[in-house]
Amino acid sequence: MSKLKLVMVGNGMAGVRTLEELLQLAPDRYDITVFGAEPHPNYNRIMLSPVLAGEQTLDQIVLNPLSWYQQHHITLHVGKRVVSVDRATRTVRADDGTEARYDRLLLCTGSKPFMLPVPGHTLKGVMAYRDIADTQALIEAAARPGRAVVIGGGLLGLEAANGLRQRGMDVTVVHVGPWLLDRQLDEAAGRLLQGALEARGLRFCLQAHTEALLGDAEDRVRALRFQDGREIPADLVVMAVGIRPNTELAEQMGLLVQRGIVVHDTLQTVTDARIYSVGECAAHRGTAYGLVAPLYEQAKVAANHLAEWGMARYAGSQTSTKLKVTGIDLFSAGDFMGGEHSEAIVLNDPYRGIYKKLVIRGDKLVGACLYGDTGDGSWYFELLREGHPLGPLRDQLMFGPPAAALTAAH
Ligand SMILES: Cc1cc2nc3c(=O)[nH]c(=O)nc-3n(C[C@H](O)[C@H](O)[C@H](O)COP(=O)(O)OP(=O)(O)OC[C@H]3O[C@@H](n4cnc5c(N)ncnc54)[C@H](O)[C@@H]3O)c2cc1C
Repeated sequence: MSKLKLVMVGNGMAGVRTLEELLQLAPDRYDITVFGAEPHPNYNRIMLSPVLAGEQTLDQIVLNPLSWYQQHHITLHVGKRVVSVDRATRTVRADDGTEARYDRLLLCTGSKPFMLPVPGHTLKGVMAYRDIADTQALIEAAARPGRAVVIGGGLLGLEAANGLRQRGMDVTVVHVGPWLLDRQLDEAAGRLLQGALEARGLRFCLQAHTEALLGDAEDRVRALRFQDGREIPADLVVMAVGIRPNTELAEQMGLLVQRGIVVHDTLQTVTDARIYSVGECAAHRGTAYGLVAPLYEQAKVAANHLAEWGMARYAGSQTSTKLKVTGIDLFSAGDFMGGEHSEAIVLNDPYRGIYKKLVIRGDKLVGACLYGDTGDGSWYFELLREGHPLGPLRDQLMFGPPAAALTAAH
């Protein structure tokens, strides 16, 4: 059987995981060509935070070195951004003129950081935090002692703030929400987290709305102004206020884009069955995910179809949260806020800095929020995903898996 041509656009975590799965299932089905806009082989983007904090090096976070691509006879074009795709001739074209033809196309272009469009957002010293280039620029900026302001008290913002603090900067986090990680933690856990981060020297301005970034005579950022008129000085501003699926190319190609490139349960785009999309750029049943675990589940299904096994279906993912700040343990999943038709079992031990909240609805665990002791997080996550009635387990839920479940797990 002659080989088909598979072209992948975007050399990131979701795409390369799809190739790994595909090579397991059908190693000889395709001639594979990969285009990646970044000048690097696939690396673990998640671990940029430990790199920024000085706990890991860039070499340590490479997932697939160049030799991996060679070993699998994959033609790799790094540092080349695909700028157009002609669906009639099935040809992909990169910014340097390199072309490749495809029988199947895999779009995994990830996300772009969202920059708050406030006056001054293009000043020098205002940065995003997404890739190796951003991380290197932040490390360079932090080599001079100075004041950093991170806009965004979500996971990414707090990891950026922690990294810059570890490198000696004076760091303030500006957040619009009422407490930190307000989409991942309830108020009690969010306040504990804030206390732990303040003890490490971070400062916080909560419920604070940025109105403008102010520059000096050389167009370098010098301060941030809030809507209430207050100003805080800043030599560096990091925007970590969210991401947007990177769908520019897909739109230009005429694919349906709604919050992401719209895909079926097979990860084929709804517009063109030859074209697949996985990762943060894809919208499945209205959701574009921003965490790796769901993307890896998508990769498995996409590979199954690319391998022409045609059996798997992606039905969406439950997600859970962790923060990568050494020494701070938190976990949350599901509907941890609870509400009218649910009950919450809460353990609160301020002395030991431990807080646990389990939310139950209709005899099922529907949410968990843990701070300070997250050892049982994965067990709660399993219970939540499986959705089995709790029955007698409910009485001891707060104390972790019963001995029988532990034995079964080992
Ligand atoms: C600092 C940081 C920490 C994170 N921590 C966590 C965590 O703890 N847990 C977690 O689950 N998730 C975390 N994430 C999110 C996680 O990294 C992403 O969900 C994941 O990397 C997305 O994978 P992807 O393949 O969809 O996109 P990406 O990994 O972004 O890959 C997309 C690639 O496509 C390239 N590309 C885009 N357009 C083109 C084009 N036209 N031509 C060629 N190439 C193109 C991009 O340059 C990029 O390299 C973190 C993210 C960051 C930035």
